[in-house]
Amino acid sequence: MKIGVLGLQGAIAEHMRMIEMSGEEAVTVKKVEQLAELDGMIIPGGESTTIGKLIKKYGFDVALKDFATKGKPIFGTCAGLIILAKEINGIEEIHLGLMDIKVERNAFGRQRESFETALQIEGVADDFQAVFIRAPYIMEVKGNAKILSTFEGKIVAARQDHFLVTAFHPELTLDPRVHQYFIKMIKEYKD
Ligand code: GLN
Repeated sequence: MKIGVLGLQGAIAEHMRMIEMSGEEAVTVKKVEQLAELDGMIIPGGESTTIGKLIKKYGFDVALKDFATKGKPIFGTCAGLIILAKEINGIEEIHLGLMDIKVERNAFGRQRESFETALQIEGVADDFQAVFIRAPYIMEVKGNAKILSTFEGKIVAARQDHFLVTAFHPELTLDPRVHQYFIKMIKEYKD
């Protein structure tokens, strides 16, 4: 399988490494034409305002919605979660708006700009060491969206059909279990 990592801004190489560690082929995606040959896409963490602008500039807004309509899975981490959300608290402009979740940006406050904690993630692990960096959280899941993990009462991972999001950065540890869960999703949707 070929899995793309949106290569506009953010933690790209780390996701590539996780896909390769899991035995699949990873591709950095900089042009919409590349999407045709891919089975799944990852939208990395970084800065969601910047990624959002670049997505529009290079036509990924239309192309990724089309990719999703074909039933191809998309995984968003941190800023990527914000990019996939239908609602961003206090902000008018949404980006892809594919997932029925309402999110709050930079939600863990200044004292906790970045931290690490062990999480229980449904279907993934009971002890996943999660790295949060100026992370958002999910205020609400709606429709088909399901909670996969919470931390201090805040939703930090969710899935809706072929979409997966985490508020933390699973690519920054050497534990590939979240990526393997995404790869399993891609296989399900491919069959
Ligand atoms: N705070 C960033 C944003 O709102 C996301 C941070 C991250 O991806 N590590 O875009």
